[in-house]
Amino acid sequence: MNNELFERAKRAIPGGVNSPVRAYGSVGGTPRFLVRAEGPYVYDAEGSEFVDLVASWGPAILGHAHPAVVKAVQDAAALGLSFGASTPSETELAELVESRVAGAGANGETVHPIEQLRLVSTGTEATMSAIRLARGYTGRDLLIKFAGHYHGHSDGLLAAAGSGVATMALPGSAGVPAPIAAQTLVLPYNDIDAVRAAVAEHGDRIAAIIVEAASANMGVLAPKPGFNAALADIAHENGSLLILDEVLTGFRVTAAGYWGLSTGEGPAYQPDLFTFGKVIGGGMPVAALGGRADVMEHLAPTGPVYQAGTLSGNPVAMAAGIATLEHATPEVYAHLDSTADTLAQAVSEALAREGVAHQVQRAGNLFSFAFTETPPVDYADMQAQQTWRYPPFFHAMLDAGVALPPSVFEAWFVTAAHDERAVSRIIDALPTAARAAASA
Ligand code: PMP
Repeated sequence: MNNELFERAKRAIPGGVNSPVRAYGSVGGTPRFLVRAEGPYVYDAEGSEFVDLVASWGPAILGHAHPAVVKAVQDAAALGLSFGASTPSETELAELVESRVAGAGANGETVHPIEQLRLVSTGTEATMSAIRLARGYTGRDLLIKFAGHYHGHSDGLLAAAGSGVATMALPGSAGVPAPIAAQTLVLPYNDIDAVRAAVAEHGDRIAAIIVEAASANMGVLAPKPGFNAALADIAHENGSLLILDEVLTGFRVTAAGYWGLSTGEGPAYQPDLFTFGKVIGGGMPVAALGGRADVMEHLAPTGPVYQAGTLSGNPVAMAAGIATLEHATPEVYAHLDSTADTLAQAVSEALAREGVAHQVQRAGNLFSFAFTETPPVDYADMQAQQTWRYPPFFHAMLDAGVALPPSVFEAWFVTAAHDERAVSRIIDALPTAARAAASA
C-alpha cells in the first residue's frame, strides 16, 4: 500500500513529497504514508502503528491530537476558518508569547525580550521577514549565518544550510541569484574568532547575525557555553542585530525556549529579534517574529518594512497555538527532559554494547546521535561522521514499529504523550538496531 501510494504521489507531486526529507532519500526505502496520529503514535495507510519520534518535526509537543487542542480547533473552525481581518485571538497568542518568554537579565532581574510579535504562517516567512526588518532597521545589507544552520528556504538562507539541504549534501540551491547569495556570509559554527574577523572586515555593512538558538538541523549541536551571548555582544558593538532563530527550539526546550535555558545559566544576553514556529502553532501553520518594540515598529503599517499574509493569524491556527502553549506546563517540560534522558542513555548504551563509536548530542530535551569518536563542534565535524551507520539503524527501528527522523542530520523529538509503553517499545527495538548500525 505504501509503495502504491508513493508511486502515485511521485506522478502527481515532484519526488512524491511536499518537503524533501520526507522522501527517505538518505535512508532509502519507501516513506510511510500516514493517515492518523494519536498521542505518541502515528498510523500508516496499511494500519501499522509506530511510536513517533518526529512529532511533525516539533509541533506535536503535547502528543498528537491532544484533546484540548483538537477541541479548540473544532470550536474555532465552527465559527469560520479565516477572516483576513483582526481577531481577538491574535492578540491573545501574542500576549501569551510575550509573557512566557522571560529570563534573566544582566543584573539577575527578569526580562521579557519579546515586546511585540508579528504572526505569520511558516518558519521560513518568520526568518525571511526578520532579516528584511533587520536590513530596514539598520540600513545595511549583509547577513552572517552559520554553516549547517537551517532557517527555512528563502533565497539568502540556503547557503550551507542544514536539514534537507544537509541530508542531500547540497551546497545550497539552484535558482538563487549569485548577487543574493553574496549578501550572506557563511561562517563556521561555534567559532567566535571567525565572527570577529568577519565583523572586522565588513562591520558597517552587516545588518544582522542569525543563529539557531541551538543547532538542530545538522543533527543536534548545542552552542559552546557563552557563544550566543558573545554573538549578541559583537552584534551590538557593531550596530547590527542578533536574530535568534527559535523556530525549532522555542517553547520546546523550555517555556522560554533555548534562550531561556542559555541566558542566566551562562552570561545573560538579549537578542533583538526572535523567530518562532512549530510548537507555537501546535500543528497548525503558525510562526512569528518578535522582539524589541523599537525594531518591530519598523514593520508596516507603523514602519517602512513591508510584510503581510492572507492567512496570517487565522483564528483556527491561533486556537491551536493558544491551547498548545497553555498546556505546555512545567510538568510537560519535566517529562520531556526525563524522557529524553532515558532514551538518549538507552540508545547510547545499545550502541556502545555493539562497539559503535558515537556521541550523544543534546540541547535541552532535543537529542540526536553522531557516529563519530570525537565530540563535534561544527558542521564539518557533523558531516565527517560515519553517516552510513544511520540508514540500517533507522530501518531496524522502523521494522520494530518506531519512526525515527529519516536522516542522521535531524533531531529526535519526544512529546508529553511518550509514556512507559511507548518508551519500552523504543528500548526493546534498540539491540537489533544497534547491531545493524555496527555491521553497516
Ligand atoms: N528555522 C529553523 C531553526 C527550523 O528548524 C525551520 C524548520 N525546520 C525553519 C526555520 C523553517 O520553518 P518552516 O519549515 O516552517 O518554514
